Amino acid sequence: MKKTKVRFAPSPTGPLHIGGARSALFNYLYAEHCGGEMVLRIEDTDLDRSHREYEEEIIESLQWLGLTWTEGVNIGGDNGPYRQTERLDIYRQYVQQLIDQAQAYYCFCSQEELEAERQEQYAQGLTPRYGGKCSQLDAAEVNRRLAAGEPASIRFRVPHNTFYVVNDLVRDTVSFESGNSGDFIIVKSDGIPVYNFAVVIDDHLMEVTHVIRAEEHLSNTPRQLMIYDALKFPRPEFAHISLILGDDHQKMSKRHGATSLVQYREKGYLPEALFNFLALLGWSPEGEQEIMTKEEIIKSFTLDRVAKSPAVFNIDKLNWMNQQYIKQLSTPELMNLLLPYIQNCPYAGQWAELPGDRTLVLVEAIREHLVCLSDVEGQMGVFFQPLSYDPEAWEILQQENSAPVLQRIRNELPEFTEPQEIKQFIKSVTKDAKLKPKDVFMPLRSALSGRTHGPELPSMIYVWGRENTLNRLDETMQKLGF
Ligand code: GLU
Repeated sequence: MKKTKVRFAPSPTGPLHIGGARSALFNYLYAEHCGGEMVLRIEDTDLDRSHREYEEEIIESLQWLGLTWTEGVNIGGDNGPYRQTERLDIYRQYVQQLIDQAQAYYCFCSQEELEAERQEQYAQGLTPRYGGKCSQLDAAEVNRRLAAGEPASIRFRVPHNTFYVVNDLVRDTVSFESGNSGDFIIVKSDGIPVYNFAVVIDDHLMEVTHVIRAEEHLSNTPRQLMIYDALKFPRPEFAHISLILGDDHQKMSKRHGATSLVQYREKGYLPEALFNFLALLGWSPEGEQEIMTKEEIIKSFTLDRVAKSPAVFNIDKLNWMNQQYIKQLSTPELMNLLLPYIQNCPYAGQWAELPGDRTLVLVEAIREHLVCLSDVEGQMGVFFQPLSYDPEAWEILQQENSAPVLQRIRNELPEFTEPQEIKQFIKSVTKDAKLKPKDVFMPLRSALSGRTHGPELPSMIYVWGRENTLNRLDETMQKLGF
């Protein structure tokens, strides 16, 4: 049996979208599951919209997500080149073969003529398709017009009354009638082949066994099958994966928030979380387990568990998952990931002055409040901003029990070397004064942070340090008038 080989073939016309990332991931997972190979090919035949920067960005995004491939544009391989615009000579040979077999022909129709034909068909209530004006030109005329430099595209001669059946590995049997398609262009008049043609040549020469791609390409498949058959290439297996919808069940678009992988990366979603989340976007493992390692996902990934129905992108689930992955990090690991965000935020200077052990306590204190890494700025405010009070905090501070508690803590706060000692101290004050924990914690938190909730109080006090804590207490007590 032939070795399983898949490919991801992005067009570098923009950043890598969630949908593209999911297609790439499913290809990767399938290849890894089968012990197969994967090609990364760049489909850049749309010269106006393709840009090298996007190609680089796409590759970076794929690498960031943790995907690897065995051959492709950035690493080479036996079946290159891997950029379609560098394969024009290869395509030319196959176009010539089709022309020689009379399965393709030159078309000299101008844009205006084609447009007029379409308008007429619309007016008659017909589906527009090429009427075949150039399909029967004799060789002498074709050669004369080509020699005269007349612009010509090349069309594929669509077989009549043929059914094309795709045994799609996700969608089961899908069939198409050839009569629904007019003879279509395979090479534009500028000499550049179109996607539907180039993709077939490449998948064949690159020995791709499984074409796994977005559902939107299902309608392209019959045209591709016609070319496979005309060139007597064996057909690969196809698997068309469903659309991704936003949570309003409309096609995912900018309206739904971030759509490109880079945006998620910049917000501070972890690649492991996105990998896990995207894998479950249209695929489900047998059990209920949702948090899965890369290895676990690869082990259980099969195409028969890929859903036919559209997948819904649920940002709450991604957020939850990201939090689970943040929880799994050690404190130094989390700190390393947070550093670029911290260094770019308004508290960078104050952060830089904190002793190392306090930075670790700070990171630990905010860990459970982080949905994504960029939340760090919001969470750090309480440590570094000048004191100001929420209405609820101010109300607590004005209750008659508050002043004596604050006074006592002001007088008795000991030197400390770890947050645990502060916790013990607060506990002993609570016990000694015969108060409920809340009656000590709430005034103290309000007095020091101006808020009624936030990171653990002993950790905050530890990060501020004794002197700064006492200053904050003094400031509040002064504002309260005692
Ligand atoms: N270049 C196509 C795209 O980016 C991929 C088509 C395919 O996978 O066959 O949508």
